[in-house]
Amino acid sequence: RLVTKDDVIRLAEENNVGFIRLQFTDIMGVPKNVSITREQLGKALDGELMFDGSSIEGFARIEESDMYLKPDPNTFMIFPWTLGEEMSIGRLICDVYNPDNTPFVGCPRYALKRALNRAAEHGFSMNVGPEAEFFLFLKDEEGKPTLKTHDRAGYFDLAPVDLGENARREMVLTLQKMGFEVEASHHEVAPGQHEIDFKYDEALNTADKIVTFRSVVRIIAQKHGLHATFMPKPIYGIAGSGMHLHISLFKEGQNAFYNPNTPDQLSQTALHFIAGILHHAKALTAITNPTVNSYKRLVPGYEAPVYIAWSYRNRSPLVRIPARRGIGTRMELRNPDPSCNPYLALAVILRAGLDGIEKRMDPPETVNQNIYEMDLEAREKAGIESLPGTLREALIELSNDEVIQDALGPHIFSRFMYAKRVEWEDYRGRVHEWEIEEYLAKF
Ligand code: GLN
Ligand code: MG
Ligand code: MG
Ligand code: MG
Repeated sequence: RLVTKDDVIRLAEENNVGFIRLQFTDIMGVPKNVSITREQLGKALDGELMFDGSSIEGFARIEESDMYLKPDPNTFMIFPWTLGEEMSIGRLICDVYNPDNTPFVGCPRYALKRALNRAAEHGFSMNVGPEAEFFLFLKDEEGKPTLKTHDRAGYFDLAPVDLGENARREMVLTLQKMGFEVEASHHEVAPGQHEIDFKYDEALNTADKIVTFRSVVRIIAQKHGLHATFMPKPIYGIAGSGMHLHISLFKEGQNAFYNPNTPDQLSQTALHFIAGILHHAKALTAITNPTVNSYKRLVPGYEAPVYIAWSYRNRSPLVRIPARRGIGTRMELRNPDPSCNPYLALAVILRAGLDGIEKRMDPPETVNQNIYEMDLEAREKAGIESLPGTLREALIELSNDEVIQDALGPHIFSRFMYAKRVEWEDYRGRVHEWEIEEYLAKF
């Protein structure tokens, strides 16, 4: 399904598109956009529109601030909620280029493309299907988000229907209008927590879709007077929000993780890939779980992974192998959370797995018991290590892992490290509620 420049211009005319948002994300995965009129669309699609990159966080130094946005015509979409208005609004996702027509190394989408090219050298493409979770919260009189929810429903509960259910239904309908194939949508374990799963796609498309998905969810929540958050652990003591990723490599139209002739029907490629993921898990967690808050989710007891292990059955380890085989053979990576930059997350995951393939790594034995119930001694005996416990630990791991750094490239790596160290230091210096409760009266 390749869309051309002419297709985009025709679609924009047919649907009375007045403005087109040229979108890209910064290193933190925050969507940015520059709006153009339909008249400028041809020029934009030829990659001739320049913008000032110095105003975009983490993007460029002042002296190299001129950037070009090159829209990917395949990403053209019209926002369904603007159809039927005086003028509708469309969008195109862009690659960021330097004035000399080379790709800008600070563009996260380019980092993913580099990893995909490396996979292509081995003949592989990567498919990814995400399971994004989020909370819907009520707002106060001033319109500020609260931590209050309106519902009593639990996992898969059908009744009572609440505000959140109506909002979620409209989210699904809107996503479908935008070409998403929504496979499942349900209430999650915690009050006010929801999940929407859309069909797997080639990695670059999935990363684009995650960015679009997050903004659609926020916009529709707002229409219903609710606040949607992808913050990984908004409330202590209940489940946090993950974004499990179902991953497989394909080669020549076949699932390269599947081999009907082995006992577990997993191929050698799958085993090497899993081994690479486990080997680089600590460092890649800095990217898949990039906030201070991410690590409040990665604790025992809430179906979020804590330990670096893999399993066929149970849901406590980092990697689970769902039962499906044949074309649907895949691994589920359970640590990512929806606050990550999806381009960078998929880039480092792919590079970690490819490193396992390139170095022919073997994974450890699977763990088919509940790791949460094993004590430290039992885990040590089984050689099971833990994921980083804080953002700081994850950053140290990242600074020691050259493969993951190379997946980011030196530009993104250094700016990511700098921004995250500042974030950590800011957090570290604050006095938290817990300290007051624990110490104020005691000392
Ligand atoms: N919310 C859990 C997490 O943080 C996942 C729950 C589930 O989908 N089984 O990963
Ligand atoms: Mg799910
Ligand atoms: Mg879930
Ligand atoms: Mg899952």
